[in-house]
Amino acid sequence: MLKIKNLHVSVDDTPILKGISLEIKKGEIHAIMGPNGSGKSTLSNVIAGKEDYQITQGTIEFEGKDLLELSAEERAHLGIFLSFQYPVEIPGVSVTNFIKTAINENRKAKGLEPMPAKELLKLIRERMELLNMDKSFLSRSLNEGFSGGEKKRNEIFQLSMLQPKLAILDETDSGLDIDALRIVAKGVNTLRTPENAFLIITHYQRLLEYIVPDFVHVLYNGKIVKTGSKDLALALEEKGYDWIKEEVAI
Ligand code: ADP
Ligand code: MG
Ligand code: MG
Repeated sequence: MLKIKNLHVSVDDTPILKGISLEIKKGEIHAIMGPNGSGKSTLSNVIAGKEDYQITQGTIEFEGKDLLELSAEERAHLGIFLSFQYPVEIPGVSVTNFIKTAINENRKAKGLEPMPAKELLKLIRERMELLNMDKSFLSRSLNEGFSGGEKKRNEIFQLSMLQPKLAILDETDSGLDIDALRIVAKGVNTLRTPENAFLIITHYQRLLEYIVPDFVHVLYNGKIVKTGSKDLALALEEKGYDWIKEEVAI
């Protein structure tokens, strides 16, 4: 699904990512961990197509297409979803209207008519039931006055409605309480299928107590310095990142 080869990225001429290679197949959950400032958000932003990054070397392919040729919007239409680290508040725009717009923009890009209101409502109801969400949520203003847990619930709801092929969740557990973590984990576990993939970016191991990744990668100083199974996340929780830094220094 996603193939990153020797990716080098700079911000304002400062190298941030220094040769990342990563392959994600459908059905897989990958976790990227690493200390603050190692380049995790840069990597997710570059995959999603945010501007302000200079790609100085390397390639990113998604289902055989050259992603670097495409805008963020085009990538979203191909099925790449990036959660917001700091979700924007949009007063006056309800959760329902936001999702309706997102879905219909996506359909338009594919040459489809807007989803009939009845069908949309049915889908919303199904998804809310699946995620055990309360209906009152639908009329709330987007992220306005949302608690950390509600923001996560909203993101997972968006994910469930848009059904992206690749979902990138960045730092979803930073500053979140255990309930919010569980919402995210339950959402991911409910929404994962053999056809989609998740890239979960976190600097805590806690989230991975509830989501079992197929691969854990450690990003340090702009490079993936280690790849392992979920046990690697446990080792990081126990021993921190210092042993990795020492290994890298050798
Ligand atoms: P992480 O998500 O792992 O904490 P980031 O990708 O946010 O790391 O940042 C990696 C490095 O790149 C940091 O040193 C950060 O200061 C720098 N950086 C990231 N984005 C920018 C930017 N827009 N302008 C300047 N420096 C940036
Ligand atoms: Mg950071
Ligand atoms: Mg970050």
